[in-house]
Amino acid sequence: MGFLSRVFGDPNQKEVGRFTGFVNKVNSLEAELEKLSDEELKNTSLNLKEEISQQARVIWDSAQVIDDRPERNKQLKKALNELLEPYEARAFALVREASKRAIGLRHYDVQIIGGAVLHQGQIAEMKTGEGKTLVASLALYLNALTGLGAHLVTVNDYLARRDAGWIGPIYDFLGLTVGVIGPQFALIYDTKFTSEEDNERLKHLRPCAKQDAYRADITYGTNNEFGFDYLRDNMAQDPTQLAQRELAYAIVDEVDSILIDEARTPLIISAASSESADLYAQFAVHIKQLKKDIDYKTDEKARTSSLEPSGIHKLEQLLGVPNLYDPENVRLVHHADVSLRAEALFAKNRDYVVKDGEVIIVDEFTGRMLQGRRYSGGLHQAIEAKEKVNIKEESVTLATITFQNLFRLYGKLAGMTGTAVTEAEEFSKIYGLEVVTIPTHRPNQRIDREDAIYKSEGAKFNAVAKDIQAINATGQPILIGTVSVAKSERLSRILKNLKVPHTVLNAKHHQKEGEIIAQAGRLGAVTVATNMAGRGVDIILGGAAPASTASDKDIETWEKAHQDVLELGGLFVVATERHESRRIDNQLRGRSGRQGDPGASQFYLSMEDDLMRIFGGDRMKGLMERLNMPDEVAIHNKLLSRAIEQAQSKVETHNFEIRKHLVEYDDVMNKHREAIYRSRHRVLHAKSPEAAEQLHASIMESMSQEEGEEYKKKIKDWQPELLFSVERAVTLRAIDVLWVEHLGTMEDLRESIGLRAHGQRDPLVEYKQEAYNLFTLLQQNINSQIREMLLHVQIEPQAPPPTVETGQPRTVLSGPDKGEDKLPATKSDLKVGRNDPCPCGAVNPETGRPYKYKNCGLVNAPHHRG
Ligand code: ADP
Ligand code: MG
Repeated sequence: MGFLSRVFGDPNQKEVGRFTGFVNKVNSLEAELEKLSDEELKNTSLNLKEEISQQARVIWDSAQVIDDRPERNKQLKKALNELLEPYEARAFALVREASKRAIGLRHYDVQIIGGAVLHQGQIAEMKTGEGKTLVASLALYLNALTGLGAHLVTVNDYLARRDAGWIGPIYDFLGLTVGVIGPQFALIYDTKFTSEEDNERLKHLRPCAKQDAYRADITYGTNNEFGFDYLRDNMAQDPTQLAQRELAYAIVDEVDSILIDEARTPLIISAASSESADLYAQFAVHIKQLKKDIDYKTDEKARTSSLEPSGIHKLEQLLGVPNLYDPENVRLVHHADVSLRAEALFAKNRDYVVKDGEVIIVDEFTGRMLQGRRYSGGLHQAIEAKEKVNIKEESVTLATITFQNLFRLYGKLAGMTGTAVTEAEEFSKIYGLEVVTIPTHRPNQRIDREDAIYKSEGAKFNAVAKDIQAINATGQPILIGTVSVAKSERLSRILKNLKVPHTVLNAKHHQKEGEIIAQAGRLGAVTVATNMAGRGVDIILGGAAPASTASDKDIETWEKAHQDVLELGGLFVVATERHESRRIDNQLRGRSGRQGDPGASQFYLSMEDDLMRIFGGDRMKGLMERLNMPDEVAIHNKLLSRAIEQAQSKVETHNFEIRKHLVEYDDVMNKHREAIYRSRHRVLHAKSPEAAEQLHASIMESMSQEEGEEYKKKIKDWQPELLFSVERAVTLRAIDVLWVEHLGTMEDLRESIGLRAHGQRDPLVEYKQEAYNLFTLLQQNINSQIREMLLHVQIEPQAPPPTVETGQPRTVLSGPDKGEDKLPATKSDLKVGRNDPCPCGAVNPETGRPYKYKNCGLVNAPHHRG
């Protein structure tokens, strides 16, 4: 940057400079707003909301005709930003005034800039401790005035609750509502409610239905929960089961952690399909009783098979169901289909062999056994059942999404973190987010010492421990970061031998952890933690400040301790290794020297560290040897430090490539998901008579003339409501069942492409080609499944709308393991009947209906646990 910035000026400074005028405008409104009473402020706010939300609704609705999501979001972002622009300064000034009165904090000017960056849909890089929680309030409030909802995404549920409880009074003051969602809970900020919580910030959070938390103007929640709710909503069979509403605006806090570190683990809702193993076995027996050419027909050339009426009748008798083609029997139809194919089209020792109790596919061209590969869509299990070998229990993916694609759903996305700039290229290329570095409120005073490099890891840890002992003797608080729990424990053992009292943490229990980290700035504190532990928690010198209700004596004691730690030089950060990514190192460093506090940091490295061994290369080893130092002496060498940084930068690039690669593959899947969810959404929301007619018309269109006549005859006495509910239920079930199967097929394709990734062919191109074919097939299958089911469906004219109920729910949620806190059971003051749907909104994917409250009870429900 040096040379270029001298010539052209630092582009970031220019970017920040553009906001000076805006800050002046916000400041100039202060005197005027200060004169208003609390009530007048609230009314001003409510009037703004009324005015803006009406226009925003029109913008939102009219954008929905655009099918292509990126294009739709582009237009939405532009139109909504234009709508909000004239109100921006006033809205910010209102939040600042409300904050002063409600929580006693006045936004600094740099925080106003941060808020403006967030409003524009960019990433505000603001150092740890600069007050990003408060910064977000500005942009959240402004964007919530649209009435479309504004989301704040946190890395864990403790932070979601803390932030909503802390900033909640500001929104409440301005007449807006605030909800919180997390695993196993939904809360709403309500001053009339007081819990027994010790933590002041969590006191006014009342349990509520998930829908209410989403219907609030502003919703705080974890990335995982926003994602799972999105997926679950796309498994709903009825609009009343939906938890979420518009995805208009989101700010992702600790955005690098969520969009980069966690980008490689997708969210998955899966179900173990154990009971279907029995079903496969059962069907294998039934199918054997059917006669070829009488009960079913096969077309060897086209490799298809189909049941004849007599076959259907026999199966219905064997299964004891009146009508195989009832919507509730979709799964049975599917089983009949694969079992028939397994029986009629797949031959032992031609298509597959059975060896050591396993069915192994034979390659049709080479005749080689394809060890480990499996047919998809249940066919493999059906063949296993036919051959009476062990049927492999598989977990079936019901829904999945990556964080990249989850957050691209939002009309407008913004992020904030202390460390983004090293990954600016990735944010820009993959998410279209530009990073703007906001200057600190006060100048940074932290002293970053030069790296101390040792030959062996043992020597390094001994040196670290000795230095900690010496610093600890002065009383200066020390925070030690390690790369893993194992390394934390290793250091802890050495410290124990040296009789240095200390606390060890690993990233598992966020709330407890947060509370310990908050005390890491106490006089004499020694805290050993992994780099990620307690992210987002403030370390105040002298320990967490006492509550406003504390006695004068307590406050005085704290002030003295605070002063003592300041004089000792603030928090001393010790890093025991370089991380693969410089960004994580900067996070750790940044825990010291917050808000202009004094502080220091020191990195200890060794030639045996992973980073140095794997990526250091011969150059570093050569350098080290030439310096020829004894083990226990540290080397401070600029050349060496620079070589390490280069190694880190190499790893960063490598990891970026991996993530980019994943995105390229996932983009293919994402298009499918978008298309399917969109048509699903249309069907689900088709409530007007016209929409119902449209659905009916589109169904008639895929049918042949004969079938059309037959269907018309069947439905001629049906009430429109019944017809609609049948058509809707059938359509949704067909989409869902086949979509889940498609997910499995795509997983298999992905794997097999990986196996084929040699020779001259580009695997991605091949993947795209085959995925396209599969998707076309999926759409055809959905249509024919709907047609087939509707032609066979039989409904008593007075019967209630069909419902689908089979099996026990056993869904599993998986995503990045963050050791979510388990909330203690909270008494809920909800009025929910035992048989009512649980307000958590969770839907049993097997039945497509929400869980009953009695089986759920909000907390600790089996389906809520991962
Ligand atoms: P970050 O998320 O940027 O690391 P936090 O939002 O956790 O920072 O805030 C850090 C601390 O700064 C909190 O204790 C908060 O009360 C304090 N703080 C933030 N903004 C202000 C302000 N405008 N005036 C005074 N204190 C502030
Ligand atoms: Mg924070």
